[in-house]
Amino acid sequence: MAEQTLPAVAKSVYTDCKKCGAERYHTVIAHTSSTSAKVECETCHSKKTYKLPSAAAAARKLSTGGATKRAPSARGASARAAAHETEYQTLLQETLTGETATYNMKLKFPVKARIQHPKFGLGVVKTAFPDKVDVIFQDEVRSLVHNRQ
Ligand SMILES: [Zn+2]
Repeated sequence: MAEQTLPAVAKSVYTDCKKCGAERYHTVIAHTSSTSAKVECETCHSKKTYKLPSAAAAARKLSTGGATKRAPSARGASARAAAHETEYQTLLQETLTGETATYNMKLKFPVKARIQHPKFGLGVVKTAFPDKVDVIFQDEVRSLVHNRQ
């Protein structure tokens, strides 16, 4: 691995000059660290800090190294939505051969009954209670009354 070193003080380095808007020879005035130096443009005499390209790349790598993780809150919400969608689709598949009844509070719905609701769409009963059922719809689980005589 070739180790890059800064050009010596009073030597020239060919690098980009912001003021000239082009690559120019810059005279090294002083070393500010082992990887950076103060340099002066030989054309416009503006001063800037010159960094060794490898050192700059290493610094960029370090600063972005921890940024690959997703925000936990956003991830939790989308995971819950995905889990709901999977459960809904699974229940629809499992009950494909069953009849779909139009929702009516006077009917009694057992677990895994398919319900066509005028407002919420197609749903499947997840849990049945004597007077209500928890029905999974595409967007969320809703409690509906049933068995109302
Ligand atoms: Zn310049």
